[in-house]
Amino acid sequence: MKTDILIAGCGCSGLYAALKLPRDKQILILSKSNLEKNDSYLAQGGMCVLKDESDFDSYFEDTMKAGHYENDPRTVEIMIRSSRALLDDLIGYGADFARNEDGSLDYTREGGHSDHRIVYHKDVTGKEITSHLLEAVKKLPNVKLVQYATLVDIISENNTCYGGIVRKSQRTVISSQTVEISPADAGFNEEELEAIEADFTILATGGIGGLYRHSTNYRHLTGDGLAMAIRHGIQLRDINYVQIHPTTFYSEVPEHRSFLISESVRGEGALLYDKNMQRFTNELLPRDLLTAEVKKQMAKDGTEHVWEDMRPLGQRELEEHFPNIVAHCAEMGYDAGKECIPVVPAQHYFMGGIRVGYDSETSMGQLYAVGETACNGVHGRNRLASNSLLESMVFAGRAAEAIAACPQDKIKKNPELIRKIDMGPYRDAEALEATYRRLVLDEIKKADMQEEKKNV
Ligand SMILES: Cc1cc2nc3c(=O)[nH]c(=O)nc-3n(C[C@H](O)[C@H](O)[C@H](O)COP(=O)(O)OP(=O)(O)OC[C@H]3O[C@@H](n4cnc5c(N)ncnc54)[C@H](O)[C@@H]3O)c2cc1C
Repeated sequence: MKTDILIAGCGCSGLYAALKLPRDKQILILSKSNLEKNDSYLAQGGMCVLKDESDFDSYFEDTMKAGHYENDPRTVEIMIRSSRALLDDLIGYGADFARNEDGSLDYTREGGHSDHRIVYHKDVTGKEITSHLLEAVKKLPNVKLVQYATLVDIISENNTCYGGIVRKSQRTVISSQTVEISPADAGFNEEELEAIEADFTILATGGIGGLYRHSTNYRHLTGDGLAMAIRHGIQLRDINYVQIHPTTFYSEVPEHRSFLISESVRGEGALLYDKNMQRFTNELLPRDLLTAEVKKQMAKDGTEHVWEDMRPLGQRELEEHFPNIVAHCAEMGYDAGKECIPVVPAQHYFMGGIRVGYDSETSMGQLYAVGETACNGVHGRNRLASNSLLESMVFAGRAAEAIAACPQDKIKKNPELIRKIDMGPYRDAEALEATYRRLVLDEIKKADMQEEKKNV
């Protein structure tokens, strides 16, 4: 089958890229799970924006400081400068953000921020944004959405990407403009594995939390795009920069996914206590430093969690701003307005990834990477809270613009390569998945070891 642009992943980055690509290009978007099951839907706290020009230096400095000044300053500047236009665009798609009584945007604050500059929609900002993007994409006549279809590899020769190989299943659903279409009508064959020829391929496969026992990410997000990049010798960056979130709900019952207690709860006044219900740290430290403090305290106390006290926010603020978190605590047997809840650090975000330039181009021709899968250096060693949705969409938009600007006669084609692909190595799904997991984890370990050696 042939398409102009193949996008793997339908979180905010994949969807935003699709919306910004030219309407005369045929686009195929794959999703390993259903259309709503991605981390973009889980984002709670909000999205940073440049409040006004006077906040630029301070926002820039907060991002650099949280990233231990290992960030690429040019990417940070692009992200901040693009934030207002992105916000207007999202509002145009119908996304709604909290407002003050006079109609102006209400800004919240999270750890590492020296000011209130985060727009939010209750504690379900990611769902609010991504569901509107999805709605808009569903209206596009040039886009086909394919659920429960996994990209198992990219197709490349001489460092140029010519598309990818997809695994379909009984659950695969294909739709165009909300109408379900048969695989044959969509141009697919009847085989489980199919090669898709594409002029451009965009990897938007999200994070790597599924590789960890305790993570806030969906379990199916296992760094597939990254594994493909490793296999094809595509350049990576900051591969061992993995963010642990200091506060996720602690449960003795092993949960499927660790439930996040958003940083903005602390931004609005929640406190952390040790086993004696005494404060032990500054709750607004950047994530990596606070995680270290929490872990130190747990080791000192011999406990498996610390306590978070949301009572300082008051019942009204809790119910209006954080209804989702309050409901989860209630489900777990805690009344967040009346008592402390147990919290523990868990894997949360991946700062590293496939190395990309300012337009999200990878080191391989005709291949782009966006969102959490990509690394353009914006976050440095540690992401500042609520910079991820923003970064994902800003640089997905830039990828779309770069693709749109590419002259037709510069696009390399290779139908012969597509025809002669051997599907043998992809037939055993479990073995392939295990190989991909090992590839990514080994690469992270290798980078850790190199860093340790450097620091000795
Ligand atoms: C609990 C939680 C709270 C968060 N809160 C915030 C916040 O408040 N503010 C903020 O800025 N950021 C937040 N983040 C981070 C942010 O949500 C993510 O970094 C961002 O949404 C990533 O978007 P994405 O498009 O890269 O990936 P995702 O939204 O995760 O989408 C990945 C997509 O790739 C698909 N996929 C994966 N592998 C394959 C494959 N092999 N083939 C086909 N499809 C594949 C998946 O099915 C999915 O559709 C939070 C994250 C979590 C987990």
